[in-house]
This record gives sequence, structure tokens and C-alpha cells, in this order.
Amino acid sequence: MRTLGLIGGMSWESSAEYYRMINQGVRAQLGSTASAQLVLWSFNFAEVAALQAAGDWPALDALMVDAARRLEAAGAEALIICTNTMHKCAPAIATASALPILHIIDPTAHALKADGHTRVGLLGTAFTMEQAFYRARLEEQHGLEVLIPGDDDRAEVHRVIYEELVAGRIEPASRDAYRAVIARLAARGATAIILGCTEIMLLIGPDDSPVPLFDTTRLHAEAAVVLALA
Ligand code: GLU
Repeated sequence: MRTLGLIGGMSWESSAEYYRMINQGVRAQLGSTASAQLVLWSFNFAEVAALQAAGDWPALDALMVDAARRLEAAGAEALIICTNTMHKCAPAIATASALPILHIIDPTAHALKADGHTRVGLLGTAFTMEQAFYRARLEEQHGLEVLIPGDDDRAEVHRVIYEELVAGRIEPASRDAYRAVIARLAARGATAIILGCTEIMLLIGPDDSPVPLFDTTRLHAEAAVVLALA
């Protein structure tokens, strides 16, 4: 089995889901006593969030490269970045480390296309919804048309992530707000919704949407199992 290096703690609420899902996936393949060979680097997310808010991406690149090096030194053979947003730093890691990176967008896009979706809605942090690093890969490498929520909806989706979900708070009113955002994306023609933030699956599920949800946490963790056992 390949040893995976998880760059996590962004937030630990979703890293715990990765840990559980990857171990469950290995157990399903190899039997009840089997579990994944993992090394985890778990950031203090408060430091990461402060640098994000300040727009200090060079510092974030340096932190992520440092985490990748620590994982490589600890025996990791491939890297899993357990957050959508921090894939903005994937190019810096790829330049600094020889380890392969399982990019979160790729299994997500493959699943969408396998189900015949071409026009998809995207929920995530403002960085993920608005910046090219995420949408360009979906659009240019995978040929998907990406719809993002309007200005007020994006602000609310972002606020809920940083004020509630990464702090372990699940609020019914925020679930209702996300339901309304999803309904508006579906009304604009999205036939599926990407849960492009690894904590959103803690808030909403299939019953909250008129169209299928593609949970990046689950799809990334499932692809990590395939990579570990390949
Ligand atoms: N986990 C979230 C994501 O998937 C947000 C936290 C972060 O900024 O990394 O984007």
C-alpha cells in the first residue's frame, strides 16, 4: 500500500472526515482489520485563515511547501491537500516537491462528466468561487461550464464557511440559506452542484438540493483510496 501524506487542519473538521473515509475505503477493499497508511500534517487553521484574509499567498505557498517537505520526510509517497481553497498553492508544491499531488478537482470533474453533466454550480470560499486557479481547471482542463452564485450569495456562502463550519457550528438557518443559493443555481441551468469546500458536506446533503450534489471531500477521499491501493 502506498503511504499518503495529508496536508490538513484546514479545517480539522473536514480532515477528520478524510481520515475516516480513507480508512473506511481501505477497509472495504482489504478487509476488516485493514486501514490506510497515512501521515498527516495538520495546520493551526487560524494562522492559515489570517494569511488568506491578508491575501499573503507567497507566505501560504511557503507554509504548504514546508508541510509537503515534512510529509515527504515522514515517508509520504503522494500528497492529498485536504481543502479546495489551498489548491491555489498546488503549483508551488509541485515545483518544490517530487511527490505526486492528487488534485481535488480531477476526481470531481471525472465524476461529473461520467454522469453527463456539462453545466455545474460551484459553492466554496470566495477564493474558490472567484479565482482562476479553481475555475480554470474545471473549464479549460475538463471542459465544464461553471456557474457561481451572485454577489450576495457568494458573500453568505463564504461567511458561513469561515464563521461557522470551520468552527464546528452547524446552523439550520445557514442550511436554509445554502438551499436557497443552490435552488437559484439550478434555476439558472446548473444540472449539478460542486460542494467545493471540504466542510459543506457537514451542512447539507442530497435532500437539500433539487439537483445532484458532488461532494469534493468524498470524491477526493475515494480517489485517495484508489491511489493508495494502485
Ligand atoms: N476547507 C475549505 C475548502 O475546502 C475552506 C478552508 C480553507 O480555506 O482551506 O476550501
